[in-house]
Amino acid sequence: MNRWKDLLYEWRDELLLRARALADLFMPRPCLVCGRTLGLREQHLCLSCAADVPYTRHWLQAHNPLADRFNAVLERHRGTEPMDYAYAAALLYYKGAYREIPRALKYHADLAAGRHFGTLLGRRLASAPHFQDIDLIIPVPLHWTRRWSRGYNQAEILAQAVADAFSSASTSAPVPGSRENPVGQDPIVPQSQSKPTCRPDLLVRARRTRTQTRLTVEQKARNVASAFQVPERILHSQESPRSVLASARHILLIDDTFTTGATLYACYAALRPYTSARISIATLAAVEGTPKTSITFATETFKSN
Ligand SMILES: [Zn+2]
Repeated sequence: MNRWKDLLYEWRDELLLRARALADLFMPRPCLVCGRTLGLREQHLCLSCAADVPYTRHWLQAHNPLADRFNAVLERHRGTEPMDYAYAAALLYYKGAYREIPRALKYHADLAAGRHFGTLLGRRLASAPHFQDIDLIIPVPLHWTRRWSRGYNQAEILAQAVADAFSSASTSAPVPGSRENPVGQDPIVPQSQSKPTCRPDLLVRARRTRTQTRLTVEQKARNVASAFQVPERILHSQESPRSVLASARHILLIDDTFTTGATLYACYAALRPYTSARISIATLAAVEGTPKTSITFATETFKSN
């Protein structure tokens, strides 16, 4: 049986490679970071850029600099009220030419790249002991007008890829070197107990916020405060959607980039009245450090969400 499975995988891979070779003839694919034309077996990044991705390795530690930054934001807003420590992880640092990875998803509609890097993030989270009890994944929502004009929500693309990565890690953890987990491509072999569900419908952005470019940390926090809410129809339903929030143990909020944590905090604050779950966060990229007064240096090319 396994022999047949291997043969089927071989045929599928061969067909995919041939199709890609044909497509590359007409439309060469560039590396997202350096722009060099990709080889047949390279995906989104050339081998040399793939070797230098500034991974954060946050997922290896429950307490890490990003989690400390986000918990500092929580403390600033919520004072001494007792609460679960929020875990946090970003896949990579938002720096240098690697900023093109989140930007490709957000501004250039490269959904395939979003799914690819969302899967890499999800595999890492699924391999971390402190993320094993996640039962709910909620992407940071866009206002419906922005979602309509963009055609998709970048955070939702990532959140779905993360949820899928958890699911496949809980059904069968691929053996290193197998076809599902080729050596040299992604060395993380996740094994997860949890199969979280992705629920973009549990949170809406009720108010369109000003562009975040050139705002100070405080202005940004004020700008997004109360922009999010659990939709009325969920609050008024007595059955499943509301109880999903009430019975959740560990919720994971997903966004594309962590800058000051203001947007993720606003989502956290909107969910908190309806759940006592631990609420953690994960993003594709994170700006390094803790900007004190102005974040414009780090986000000069950022448009609003
Ligand atoms: Zn490259």
